[in-house]
Amino acid sequence: VTGTAMVSPSRRNQRRHEAQQYRRLYKTLRWKIIRRIQLQEHPLCARCLARGEVTQATVVHHAEPHHGDEVRFFNGPFQSLCKRHHDSDAQSEERVGYSVEIGADGWPADARHPANS
Ligand SMILES: [Zn+2]
Repeated sequence: VTGTAMVSPSRRNQRRHEAQQYRRLYKTLRWKIIRRIQLQEHPLCARCLARGEVTQATVVHHAEPHHGDEVRFFNGPFQSLCKRHHDSDAQSEERVGYSVEIGADGWPADARHPANS
């Protein structure tokens, strides 16, 4: 991968720490409650709705990347999405297991991106 040498060891540890944070946060009771409330208050897929379609949402999506940051993770903003839209979102983040979004520093923002492993 091009650019790997540009990442300092300390920064790589930071990314690894973020990946662990992700897993931990999704397992919390707090997240499960937030998820349930979000789907109760916004039961329809926001993207389908924007196109005039009515589809039940099943996934709570972080509309802004949280990078494992607890405050952003638990405070959103959130978006209710159907599985189809969530899976097609951010280059199929769910399927490949990471986002291909590039951060402001020009490096893949997602700690799970192979470039950060
Ligand atoms: Zn949808």
